[in-house]
Amino acid sequence: MKATGQSGPCCSVCGKPLTDPVSIEKGSGPECAGKQKRTELAYRTGNLFANRADYSWGLEGAVIWIEDNNGPKSVTNDMDAVLTDICHELREEVNYKLVMYRDSRGVWDAVSCNVQICESLGTFRQNGKGAIVSGVDFVSLNQTDRKRAKIELYSKAALRKVKPIRL
Ligand SMILES: [Zn+2]
Repeated sequence: MKATGQSGPCCSVCGKPLTDPVSIEKGSGPECAGKQKRTELAYRTGNLFANRADYSWGLEGAVIWIEDNNGPKSVTNDMDAVLTDICHELREEVNYKLVMYRDSRGVWDAVSCNVQICESLGTFRQNGKGAIVSGVDFVSLNQTDRKRAKIELYSKAALRKVKPIRL
């Protein structure tokens, strides 16, 4: 390729050059994508109760995976409620699980959060306030492939860049 002085693909948020194929395809780097998600979650608008995210999820070994099905609200925007629902399903099984989430763009992120259980596990499900999810944070895995995302999740957890849920 000839050097023309013209710059290659850049992050649409911070303008830094992008080299990773997933970042180039999505138009922003992993740090900026994570920052955008945190902002979106902090400043979400609309009726919190009427418009819920549509998502699929499952438990695979030590990993809880969540996929955004592009419902009326994004999972990013509804992540604390989504995690609360999942906690109500899994109860004490959520302990030590890592969470990964495929956003509406098809990119996987790791999700960290704090979970507090306020009631005994016997009333965990009936009581909507049984599990309190707070401090939701996103760490980009920058992968569109699920298996690769899972490998990246484990490696980030080993480096303590991602925390498992702790009850
Ligand atoms: Zn950027």
